[in-house]
Amino acid sequence: MKIICIGRNYSEHAEEMKSPLPSSPIFFLKPETALLKTSNFYYPQFTKLLHYECELVIKIDKVGKNIQKKFAKSYYSEFTLGIDFTARDIQSECKKAGLPWEKAKGFDQSAPISNQWMNIKDYPENIEFTLKKNNTIVQKGASTNMIFPFDELICYISSFITLKKGDLIFTGTPAGVGEVQVGDKLSAFIAEDNVLNINIK
Ligand code: MG
Repeated sequence: MKIICIGRNYSEHAEEMKSPLPSSPIFFLKPETALLKTSNFYYPQFTKLLHYECELVIKIDKVGKNIQKKFAKSYYSEFTLGIDFTARDIQSECKKAGLPWEKAKGFDQSAPISNQWMNIKDYPENIEFTLKKNNTIVQKGASTNMIFPFDELICYISSFITLKKGDLIFTGTPAGVGEVQVGDKLSAFIAEDNVLNINIK
């Protein structure tokens, strides 16, 4: 399986990163070894500026290529929340040098994900989610604020890369990204439901 992540999919996040709004989806990949399904995350030694990015994640149900937008809904049925951990210091160096981001984004355990999957049919069109750091709200997202909604992402990505059953799409983070340190606790909520807890060790 593969993990495809979308960058700058919320305008307020693009603003806080001082990045222009994209005219088409920006995506990059994390390897399968980035997945973290337990609640303990160990702060990597290679960074001094680790950022959380809480994101809605959709899971692909069947293989597809060149998927038309009108058919995209039949390729996913479940979603949850994940964290796109980012070594922001390394990412800034890569950006400055015009180099790829994998070191900053694709490292081991950089993609914690909830074990609870929600059926998308059980939710309103606007899915609201929240991230708390040490019990204080730091990010609030709503799927209707995405620049490119789920169906457009599937259409666009599949024009380049075949999507397969079990692939995950991290759909971008809202504003409020920030630093974590050892001892911090992240808690992510879909509406009022706490679906993901990460202890930074
Ligand atoms: Mg992200």
